[in-house]
Amino acid sequence: MTILNQPHSSTRPRVDCDLPGPRSAELLERQRRWESNARVYPRHLPIAMAEGSGSFVTDADGNIFIDFLTGAGVLSLGHNHPELIKAVTGQLGRLTHGLDFPTPAKDAFIDAQLSMLAPNLRSRMKLHFCGPTGANAVEAAVKLCKTATGRGDIISFQGGFHGSSHAAMALTGLVAQKRPVPNGLPGIHFFPYSYCGRCPMGLTPDTCETNCVGYLERALRDSNGGIPLPAAVIVEMVQGEGGVVPARTDFVQRVRALTRELDIPLVVDEVQTGCGRTGTWFAFEQYDIEPDVIIASKALSGIGLPVALILYDKRLDVWEPGAHTGTFRGNQLAFATGAEAIRIIRRENVLGNVRRRGEQIACRLAGLAEHSWVREVRGRGLMWGIELADPRDGRPASALASEVQARALRGGLLVELGGREDCVVRMLPPLNATAEVVDTACAILIDAVKQCWPPGHERSRPGDYIKEFVR
Ligand code: PMP
Repeated sequence: MTILNQPHSSTRPRVDCDLPGPRSAELLERQRRWESNARVYPRHLPIAMAEGSGSFVTDADGNIFIDFLTGAGVLSLGHNHPELIKAVTGQLGRLTHGLDFPTPAKDAFIDAQLSMLAPNLRSRMKLHFCGPTGANAVEAAVKLCKTATGRGDIISFQGGFHGSSHAAMALTGLVAQKRPVPNGLPGIHFFPYSYCGRCPMGLTPDTCETNCVGYLERALRDSNGGIPLPAAVIVEMVQGEGGVVPARTDFVQRVRALTRELDIPLVVDEVQTGCGRTGTWFAFEQYDIEPDVIIASKALSGIGLPVALILYDKRLDVWEPGAHTGTFRGNQLAFATGAEAIRIIRRENVLGNVRRRGEQIACRLAGLAEHSWVREVRGRGLMWGIELADPRDGRPASALASEVQARALRGGLLVELGGREDCVVRMLPPLNATAEVVDTACAILIDAVKQCWPPGHERSRPGDYIKEFVR
């Protein structure tokens, strides 16, 4: 089935000059002068973005790229989907901001969101709108669970990412981000995640018996385990920033069974995996579990308008009025496009497209796994990663990943890095990407890996043309 309404003005990427082009270079330089040292994406992808259409983005010099970064997974229906533009312009002039008052746009959005849940889950869930970022929704989930249980500790997982605010960062594995900011949120305990490619327990998949979750089970049941009964366990079904690591099914199911047994709220962070990214509306559906709290943000509006929420079991709803406020919790434009996005996703069977394109990517990239520096190619739906590592000692091949990213950019494809020391090349295509676009993108990526191959051998240096902007 063709995906309708993909607003393609372009069908092919086209890069006409060295990157960054002159206009991009000028804007990057102005950015360098005025913006924070903490800026990140343009250091690796040195372009200035000018406009977007469907799966394509055009830079300030007129170069056209396939955008498989999609605003870090936000633009689920690509750039400027015409029906979402219509929804937003219809709402403009009616009401744009509504704090947490009920409004027709919000009501339709809530209806649409709840309609995506299985009936059993829907009947026991309530919803809270948070400040419009994933991190703020993570904060809300933690506060909700602490309030409801009266407990203070939280279990999180190594390799996980939950955001850059103080508490969300404390729940995140990324040591480098935390190191310069002492006195993080106390009471957070990290346990191993089922990252079989780099087993945190040092075991091989055939001998492991999912010992990572076994360790958590033993620790929480141990009266001398050192951890008081926690307020929550927070987990991603697929660690996104952590390098596209899908959790093992038995890992997730045992975490769910354990948290049920001990009456610990299970929080699933679906900020990145949610809204169809993995081929079901939420990724936890594929694990046959029901969480107590669901965190969603990124793709909720379908077009990058900020919105975030938590869905949670009614029995947790004991916090007081005003327990988690925030001025920007009533973005009517995001509600209007979010409800419309769900209508489109249903009508066009976009989730079916996610699954089919995912299979297509799996087939197209399968050959890469033969290269000794490609440690693993893995993904779910339209969330894919190629992990690069030195075959001699397994060390993350970060420089190689960065070269592949630069080569891909040169070929006309925007991809992201993630994982340990950024050694995973990541793709987050629009959920309505066509087979043709996916095929072209995979060809560019395969070519980029091959051009950088083998690392350390004589070759032209793709890093040269971006070195001014990468530090
Ligand atoms: N949780 C997960 C799983 C994420 O991937 C992210 C963002 N990459 C966040 C939370 C934080 O979201 P935000 O950047 O909107 O604060």
